[in-house]
Amino acid sequence: MTASAAPFPAPRLGEPYLLTPGPLTTAFSTKEAMLKDWGSWDADFRAMTKSICDQIVALAGDTRGEFVCVPMQGSGSFSVEAMLGTFVPRDGKALVLANGAYGLRAAETMRYLGRAYTLIDKGDYMPPRGDEVGAALDADPAITHVVAIHCETSSGILNPVAEISEAVYARGRKLLIDSMSAFGAIDLDVNRIRYEAMVSSANKCIEGVPGFGFVVARRSELEAAKGNCHSLALDLHAQWAYLQKTGQWRYTPPTHVVAAFLEALRLHAEEGGVPARGARYTRNRDVMVEGMRGLGFETLLKDRWLSPIIVTFFCPADPNFVFARFYDLMKAKGFIIYPGKLTVVDSFRVGCIGRMDEHVMRRVVQAAKEALAEMGVASAAPPEAAIAERAKLAA
Ligand SMILES: *Cc1c(COP(=O)(O)O)cnc(C)c1O
Repeated sequence: MTASAAPFPAPRLGEPYLLTPGPLTTAFSTKEAMLKDWGSWDADFRAMTKSICDQIVALAGDTRGEFVCVPMQGSGSFSVEAMLGTFVPRDGKALVLANGAYGLRAAETMRYLGRAYTLIDKGDYMPPRGDEVGAALDADPAITHVVAIHCETSSGILNPVAEISEAVYARGRKLLIDSMSAFGAIDLDVNRIRYEAMVSSANKCIEGVPGFGFVVARRSELEAAKGNCHSLALDLHAQWAYLQKTGQWRYTPPTHVVAAFLEALRLHAEEGGVPARGARYTRNRDVMVEGMRGLGFETLLKDRWLSPIIVTFFCPADPNFVFARFYDLMKAKGFIIYPGKLTVVDSFRVGCIGRMDEHVMRRVVQAAKEALAEMGVASAAPPEAAIAERAKLAA
């Protein structure tokens, strides 16, 4: 079988797969879409921007014209900062729900903005639950907005945004969601989960290349947000107003990235949209987790909280296991894995997203098996301390 006949051909001869949560492995045609220069003011490029925004709003499930999409230059964090700065008014107060690095980054962003916030910090991977959000809101009437992370990519946990949304709106507050690593693969339909704005970026589940993020926002909320933002460049209302008036981004857009994203969206639709993308990633995860467990590896999270985005594994207790060596061996076999981000025990992560399928995941497991043998690791079982740590995770 030639490489191009395979449904998910290797990225390119000799190039490793990126088992990371973005930048990730993209389709060849997505890369190819960048081989052309575009004028940012040109009608062709303006049409590309409009098409992207229309498609994103459709992916969010809006059919009544109640939501708009505003793209923003930069990595995902720029769009998170734009969302927080634009929607939390200067006299507002946010409740930030953190269970990992991205929740803490949202809180840090609020601190930089000089806006009031409080934090529920659940540690490395315990999910924030609806009842505790409700209790925090009842206890502090000054809170206007709640900030939730959809998939906390640092552990891979899928947070219960539906029950959080219910707790927020039952108390008349507003929800902002960082769905960076989930949107496009995990349902975040505006008809099922209520929120005012959510943010994602080009290089996650839509499988584009890095360079911009986008915010899907309730139109009325965005209209009301004029003048809120602390930053000229990150003002989503101003970006949106200019887009509406001229069809152009306010400042230089990442033209090639936009062209690649358009192709990535085409592939996303061709595959079957959000359900099909989510199903492929879920299959990737199931095949990979089953294979890794077969080698003795254990996941940090119980199955209930495992996202189809990225999975955290404990490092084996065997003293022959050295993560840096494991990483190099996996890379030599064609797979870039990701170090862990836990504070208590050693771990590493394997991503399930990007242009790859279960056949690739089987090869990942085989590569891990060979790497363990080459290192002289007899068992991939984690240390007792890791198991004890995991036992703390609520059912
Ligand atoms: C990737 C990601 C971000 C943004 O990270 P950047 O490095 O700025 O692109 C924010 N939140 C979550 C949950 C993410 O996965």
